[in-house]
Amino acid sequence: MESASIAIVGLGPRGLNILERIAALLGERSSNIPMTIHLIDPAIPGQGVHAWSQPQHLLVNTVAGQITMFSDDTVEDSGPAVAGPSLLDWVHERGYRCVDGKFIISSAGTEIGENDYLPRSLLGEYLTAVCDRLLKSLPANVTVRNHRREVVNISEYGDGSLAIHLQGDYVVDADFCFLALGHCESLPDDFDLTLEAQARRGQSNNSQLRYFRNPYPINSLSAISSHDRVALCGTGLTATDVLSALTVGIGGAFEKVGQDRMRYLACGREPAITIFSRQGLPFGGRAVNQKGVGGQYKARYFTREFIDAARHALCLREGSLQLDFDRDLWPTLKHEMAYVYQCTASGAWAEARGFVPDAASVAAIDALIAPLAGITFADYAAYQRYIHDYLRDDIADSLQGNVQNPRKAAADVIRDLRDNIRYAVDHCGLTPASHQRFLSHWCSIMNRIAVGPPKERNMELLALMEAGIVQFGLGQNPQIGFDAGSSRFTLASTAFAINETDSFDVFVRAKIDVFEPEKSTSRLVHNMLASGLAVPFQNGGFKPSGLAVDKSANLLRSDGQAMRNIWALGNIVEGSNFYTFVLPRPQVNSRAIQDAGKVVIAMLERIDARAAAQEALQASQQAASAARQAETA
Ligand SMILES: Cc1cc2nc3c(=O)[nH]c(=O)nc-3n(C[C@H](O)[C@H](O)[C@H](O)COP(=O)(O)OP(=O)(O)OC[C@H]3O[C@@H](n4cnc5c(N)ncnc54)[C@H](O)[C@@H]3O)c2cc1C
Repeated sequence: MESASIAIVGLGPRGLNILERIAALLGERSSNIPMTIHLIDPAIPGQGVHAWSQPQHLLVNTVAGQITMFSDDTVEDSGPAVAGPSLLDWVHERGYRCVDGKFIISSAGTEIGENDYLPRSLLGEYLTAVCDRLLKSLPANVTVRNHRREVVNISEYGDGSLAIHLQGDYVVDADFCFLALGHCESLPDDFDLTLEAQARRGQSNNSQLRYFRNPYPINSLSAISSHDRVALCGTGLTATDVLSALTVGIGGAFEKVGQDRMRYLACGREPAITIFSRQGLPFGGRAVNQKGVGGQYKARYFTREFIDAARHALCLREGSLQLDFDRDLWPTLKHEMAYVYQCTASGAWAEARGFVPDAASVAAIDALIAPLAGITFADYAAYQRYIHDYLRDDIADSLQGNVQNPRKAAADVIRDLRDNIRYAVDHCGLTPASHQRFLSHWCSIMNRIAVGPPKERNMELLALMEAGIVQFGLGQNPQIGFDAGSSRFTLASTAFAINETDSFDVFVRAKIDVFEPEKSTSRLVHNMLASGLAVPFQNGGFKPSGLAVDKSANLLRSDGQAMRNIWALGNIVEGSNFYTFVLPRPQVNSRAIQDAGKVVIAMLERIDARAAAQEALQASQQAASAARQAETA
């Protein structure tokens, strides 16, 4: 019997999803076709970006009860649900507890709850434990080979099978390959190159001058001293990591001084930090979760049926299937948010049909989307006061919860209906122009209001502002520059009545690289583009990010043909797919597990078809040989 060789390239959470689905699907099959699974990743199996070597102060921004690597009955079209521990179950099984703010195995301290935000290092431990468990659960006909090396190229043999080239010239032969490369690094962009050059040139005049094009590994920030003035560009989750590293990471501490307040106890080694962004606003904190593990708001208006109908109407009207987000989708999504806002505020859920939101609810959604619209600040001090009050209000909203607070409930619509947004956007669902605006304009707003850090992080930010260590910098769209005289980076306000400028020794760009294949430092991606085995995804003339795949997640070659034995998942297909980088959540028909299930089912069908064809061939050969023997006799 012919065996099957399967390569999983990249064994972070996405690669682990593939392994989990292979284990689950093989568990219910009687077939005993020999299989070899090659797990290929230079990093520790399972962890991806959630390395267990990270400091404990870097937190996952999803509550413990909402992370799992196992399927459940809600997950559709992906094979059987095989039970396994969620992150929360696992920390309990292992005996982890919270002792003086640290998560350790102990009988002291307090039990970890479903709404706790745990260190990413602990998540990494969980992921590797899941990997170990899955490997033990594989049936006897499966052999596993672990290769702790980088894949540098993939090429095809004449029969269509694959040569997976590992660093060091080792080649793995595979019939099927899953690519789950996750967060690949990019080459510096023009912004990086400019600031890097300024830093290089100015260092002879200012020994403190330094540019960080991203803050990872986070320990690289230990080069920043208490004498430095730091400009932190970005106010999202990465910026949260930076603030944490430059405060508690070097010996500072936060003390809770009330339900909604913290005080920062400085260690004296902190630099002076100015945090700023294009939007000029902090991210909204995650509210107290009142939806349990799997609770989600269910769409009344922004449903798949609505999206289908909008597409159908557009097709009749203009002969096109590509929607315009602003014109065709946003009004209904906004209506949904206004409905949730008003019903939550009034405490009564109105009949959805015929509902018309009142002016106050519409204004509340407008304010959530663009809080600074129409506001001009007299000066820097006025802006600081505004941000201080904004944070206080956001903390109060967060403490009221994601079901009871109207603003947080409305913002959560974006998170809860993400699958419907994906349904509208994925695979060129929007026109190229609308796709571009959706990513550059709407996504940053959605991230700010719905995918912020834990509310405690905003309490910490406020405490740091009150301690004079952090200030929120220079309004919307401050202009970034460089003063050659003092050899310092500069920020100039563009949104205040009077112009203000500030200068800095250190500039930290708090962002995660977008995966643009042509700018990726991945040798594998570079070589696949060069050979035409992969191409960047394109929506008409717009090239957002990611590799091109078809709806079955098969990689598309430069000749437009789908590679039926290579599937790509996760961040490397962000572009043709939307929001590919969330961890699976229990009880919500997790898209990550669904995606993994579908591609593994497709592979197993091909293995079965190949085995059936082989059996048929053998049977016909045997029949022919028997006929020949009979003739000779
Ligand atoms: C700093 C950071 C924090 C995050 N925090 C959260 C969070 O709190 N909650 C959340 O839901 N999501 C978070 N995310 C999003 C993240 O995308 C997912 O949590 C998850 O890690 C995605 O898994 P992945 O396997 O697709 O990618 P990754 O985690 O990036 O793993 C990819 C793996 O592929 C390997 N690889 C890459 N190229 C090759 C190659 N050529 N050969 C062999 N192996 C290769 C890498 O070594 C890595 O192990 C975070 C992301 C980042 C960057």
